[in-house]
Amino acid sequence: MDHVIRRPQRTLTTQELETVRDTALLNLQGGLILGIIDPVPNPSPMTEDEGAWVREQVWPEFMTEIDRKYPWGFWRWSTCERGTCWNCLARRCDLCVHRQEGGPHVDDNTGWVYRAGGQGVVAKLILRPDGAPCVWWCRCPCAKDGPAPDAPARRRRRAKRSAAAKPEPGAAKADSAARTDRSAAPSRGRRAPDPADEAQYTLF
Ligand SMILES: [Zn+2]
Ligand SMILES: [Zn+2]
Repeated sequence: MDHVIRRPQRTLTTQELETVRDTALLNLQGGLILGIIDPVPNPSPMTEDEGAWVREQVWPEFMTEIDRKYPWGFWRWSTCERGTCWNCLARRCDLCVHRQEGGPHVDDNTGWVYRAGGQGVVAKLILRPDGAPCVWWCRCPCAKDGPAPDAPARRRRRAKRSAAAKPEPGAAKADSAARTDRSAAPSRGRRAPDPADEAQYTLF
């Protein structure tokens, strides 16, 4: 698959992981599905402070409300800025979302211009009229085709043993999520049943 667009992966610092841990579970799940737990910003003509000013002064309330629930914002990321897929974050490269789908998520390069106050669309915005693709290829360096890496059976058994030794409400669920096979995994356009369970358990 030599058309995979390789982009650098972001390694979250200890402090950034704290921020991710503080995210409400529902938003953490959303962030995992969208690949915005470890997004990498494209170069921007605006500084971070200028961006913050626009969000505070210009964005309608409903946008800031959603945006601040996610560790690195919700509306700020174009498709090509997304990071690692939830399975790879959980070290399940055998189930990498883009390996399963055989290709990246491709953005249709359209946006919307809203009325003042954010209610109602007044125009369609074509962001890249040259048709340049804006795609999300999971940034994990794992191969996206060919033989799948082995599922980490040993790690699963170990997790099960420790869960048996020290029962926790989430443990059994995380173990069953680890057994998710390809047929249960999400495909394009469908939502994952519960991808955060395993990721949250193994990553954080
Ligand atoms: Zn991977
Ligand atoms: Zn992946």
